[in-house]
Amino acid sequence: MAESSKNVSSYFACNVFNQTVMRERLPKDVFKAVMQTKKMGTSLGSNIANVVANAMKDWAVEKGATHYTHWFHPMTGVTAEKHDSFLTHNSDGTIILEFSGKELIKGEPDASSFPSGGLRATFEARGYTAWDPTSDAFIKDGTLYIPTAFCSYTGEILDKKTPLLRSMDVVSEQALRILRLFGNTTATRVLPTAGAEQEYFLVDKTLFDQREDLLITGRTLFGAKPPKGQELEDHYFGNIKERVSAYMHELDEELWKLGIPAKTKHNEVAPAQHELAPVFETANIAADHNQLTMELMKKIALKHDLVCLLHEKPFAGVNGSGKHNNWSLSSNDGQNLLDPGDTPTENTQFLTFLCAFIKAVHKYSDLLRLSAASAGNDHRLGANEAPPAIVSMFIGDELQAILDALENDTKAEVNSKTKFKIGVDALPSFNKDNTDRNRTSPMAFTGNKFEFRMLGSADSISCTNVMMNTMVADVLCEFADELEGAEDFNTALKELLVRTYKEHKAVIFNGNGYSDEWVKEATETRGLPNYISTVDCLPRYLDEKNVSMFEKFKVYSKVEIASRTEILLENYTKVINIEALTMLDMAKKQIYPAVMEYTKEVCNTLASIKAVGIENAAQEKLANKLSSSLGCLDSAVKELEQSLIDAKDTDNVYELSQFYRNEVFAKMQALRAIADELETIVSEKYWPFPVYSDLLFKV
Ligand code: ADP
Ligand code: MG
Repeated sequence: MAESSKNVSSYFACNVFNQTVMRERLPKDVFKAVMQTKKMGTSLGSNIANVVANAMKDWAVEKGATHYTHWFHPMTGVTAEKHDSFLTHNSDGTIILEFSGKELIKGEPDASSFPSGGLRATFEARGYTAWDPTSDAFIKDGTLYIPTAFCSYTGEILDKKTPLLRSMDVVSEQALRILRLFGNTTATRVLPTAGAEQEYFLVDKTLFDQREDLLITGRTLFGAKPPKGQELEDHYFGNIKERVSAYMHELDEELWKLGIPAKTKHNEVAPAQHELAPVFETANIAADHNQLTMELMKKIALKHDLVCLLHEKPFAGVNGSGKHNNWSLSSNDGQNLLDPGDTPTENTQFLTFLCAFIKAVHKYSDLLRLSAASAGNDHRLGANEAPPAIVSMFIGDELQAILDALENDTKAEVNSKTKFKIGVDALPSFNKDNTDRNRTSPMAFTGNKFEFRMLGSADSISCTNVMMNTMVADVLCEFADELEGAEDFNTALKELLVRTYKEHKAVIFNGNGYSDEWVKEATETRGLPNYISTVDCLPRYLDEKNVSMFEKFKVYSKVEIASRTEILLENYTKVINIEALTMLDMAKKQIYPAVMEYTKEVCNTLASIKAVGIENAAQEKLANKLSSSLGCLDSAVKELEQSLIDAKDTDNVYELSQFYRNEVFAKMQALRAIADELETIVSEKYWPFPVYSDLLFKV
């Protein structure tokens, strides 16, 4: 029976080895031990792992699986997997299916072919993967997938999951210290939660295949603006075309089978652009699920003769795609720590977490910015598109009024009934409509969580969440150190909050983040950094304050940060290099011939017109224009080629990335401008690939 005719709850998570399956299949004590591990992040003994592995294998085999894989998140940005079958030889030569606790807990892929940014030279090439029991195993395409972390043998982390898990422990520990100060004795773990809204484009597969740039780089490197873009604003939330709807439907079903709580789907601002939002989950699970979502988005599109583009800027002049990382902290006794709550104590506790967050964002805005930095996302951040490259925070007028009143020891003009112990008015209850009006802020408070809007659509959410968790932990730790030793808690708390707000409110901005005035005010008056590009912000990773924070909490060592910075910068230059080569290929092999063909046709017409004595024909002007533009195209090609040759003189990754940004990328823009102009004058009969209106409007 097609899933579509079944009740969703009958197949939701049917391919996941989750709590329900474990309760059915594991002995009680083993089940309890696994649940304890999942809740507290503690490790699991080897005899327990054996029982779990065996049950997992039996379950997977019953569902038709033949292989298992340790599934991990190397620094490539995509996931990696190596499949092993369950087959083992018996001593009598027969075959049995086996899966041991050892195999569940640890795998040993060769680490040498994954980016390690210099770590490989210094340390061992061998790497291992370690099971992350907090994220459920699942079956996909006949294989049992085991979510894992990936490290080198000497312990250096080589992936995106390990630091995330570490940062989750760190923020839990510090948040608990604050909860204890407010008299909470029940919570034993605080988990960051994340909900990743995912934007994407769908284009027709046949058209996609005709564009080398889309095929190789995921974005159009050429393309004149179509007569119609998004100016009519008729796509956002518009009704969904049948073909797209069928795609979304199948995507939802496949996600649900993997236990991924896909919730919202709609058309986005740009033509052919859409969005999917899941229900939030614990940060590491949300990160795993977002990777799977992106993978399935691409895979299922092909079944519908569509291609899903996750690039941040597939089309120039049309909105790009981002990813919003909604984030909060949730305690295992059921509180959302960014929910203002109903009682004065809850309110004060909320204000404490809020002020910690404000300080963290102000102090570590460079880390947030660089967590969203990539060649693709440079086309959005700092390029007059949502959101700006300056990290600021939107908290809304009401909340700001409360903090101002706290600072000035006055009464806030908000409708509140109760008074805080520390002498400010209680917070009004927030509803989303009150707080989420600002769409231009990179970090917006939306009632009970913060929404970070800088991420690019293709990014993993791991890095951002590592930053959020660690920087918030850092400030909570300072708060706890100060408050734990205080003589009078309420006096000390008020003094701390007022001081924090005073020192860090420069990061709060409730106005229009897209305006030029804001850039001026932010950088000149408020001293907020404005890192326009990836190459400007990535080196900040190694700033003393950042290194000492990560080392203090043992999330990254300095060597690991240096290696990550290198990997990311290397990736940047490689991406631009591939794009430049693709442009050259298309210009020389496709655009030149097309322009020449058309010029020939125009010249032929011109000759026959001249033959009958007509002078000053439009054909003559056109032929001249075509010929001079082709000359310009040729010069631009030569300049781009030269810049790629010049790039070979540098091998320092920092200098090289600057060179790619300032020289190569600039030459690419120049080449594009000429080609795009040619597109508008060359007959479509000769133009060698589908144009923007085909791609954007023919789904
Ligand atoms: P909008 O488009 O207005 O930003 P959506 O409803 O599309 O709103 O997305 C909101 C996202 O925030 C969803 O993924 C939702 O699950 C997530 N979210 C809600 N509460 C929390 C929370 N406490 N922690 C993390 N994410 C949350
Ligand atoms: Mg959003």
